[in-house]
Amino acid sequence: MFYSVAQYYRGGAMRWENLSEPGHTRASDAALFDADAVTVRTFDTPEFAGITFHEVRARSIVNRVPGASRMPFEWTVNPYRGCTHACVYCFARKTHSYLDLDTGLGFDSQIVVKVNAPELLRRRLSSPGWHGEHIAMGTNVDCYQRAEGRYRLMPGIIDALTEHANPFSILTKGTLILRDLDALARAARVTDVGISVSVGFTDPALWRTVEPGTPAPERRLDVVRALGERGIGCGVLMAPVIPFLGDDPAQLRATVRAIAAAGATSVTPLVLHLRPGAREWFMSWLAAHHPHLVRRYERLYAEGAYAPKWYQRRITRQVHDLAREYGIGPARAGASRRTPEPAPAVEPGPTQLTLL
Ligand code: SF4
Repeated sequence: MFYSVAQYYRGGAMRWENLSEPGHTRASDAALFDADAVTVRTFDTPEFAGITFHEVRARSIVNRVPGASRMPFEWTVNPYRGCTHACVYCFARKTHSYLDLDTGLGFDSQIVVKVNAPELLRRRLSSPGWHGEHIAMGTNVDCYQRAEGRYRLMPGIIDALTEHANPFSILTKGTLILRDLDALARAARVTDVGISVSVGFTDPALWRTVEPGTPAPERRLDVVRALGERGIGCGVLMAPVIPFLGDDPAQLRATVRAIAAAGATSVTPLVLHLRPGAREWFMSWLAAHHPHLVRRYERLYAEGAYAPKWYQRRITRQVHDLAREYGIGPARAGASRRTPEPAPAVEPGPTQLTLL
């Protein structure tokens, strides 16, 4: 069953106590944060109109990824939950339900901020049990979403990683990352730093409706350019390629050409996938904006969350051919500048990579 936006938004009480951090088992982990440590805040600026921030003092910040052996990273740091970038297809939406928050509009507007993230990370990196493993950020929600402009958690996080020469990677759609260029350059002098920007398409009309809270694709490609000028290589996760809306050969060509012109070190295509939580929200959006495509989507995703292999292979081949034509190198397997790949479906799944 698919829901309309109005039907899907249910608001509701928030269950703050006895929740485990996503990716951890409830039996073994401490609660994510204490109920009495939540401060609810709104701001009277146009940028944050309609957005509620739930400031919490988290109990832990470095999370182990379930099924990590199948993924290119094992440890993640996520200072936020929920994302004002509001991508309709975002499959981190389901994670909001673990807090009894709505996974539709609530995910876009009820943002949990772990205000003590830098201090917790410092403590973890100094602990005897930590051995300098790679830490991936932007794997659940975007750490450079608009809230970061106000809360400024990332500079402290990057500084902590730099002090410990701890390798890390960031995947983002946020141009706010440019604020931290100096810190990233400092980090890159002492450890492996991998930055990837997500740009699935450059079509402005599609961008406005399906990724309404994000910076425009061209602005994201400016990030790639700016990082390159500072000597920090940046890959592009070409995600998601949206069937029937962003997969036309001319669209793929325009996108890869723009990615190449920005100086990306690699391009990794990834076809839209629709896991529970994202699927309902995306399909209600599709029914409202492109009703003639609903049946085609139901057929394409009839087997589950992923488009059929033949379709994925076709897109991958087309993008790789275009990347060769425009002179973009392939992502190196096992390279330190990692572009995170899609995660396999692992329950409960909240720390899996989203389509940033
Ligand atoms: S896909 Fe990424 S940028 Fe978009 S809403 Fe989800 S977490 Fe935010």
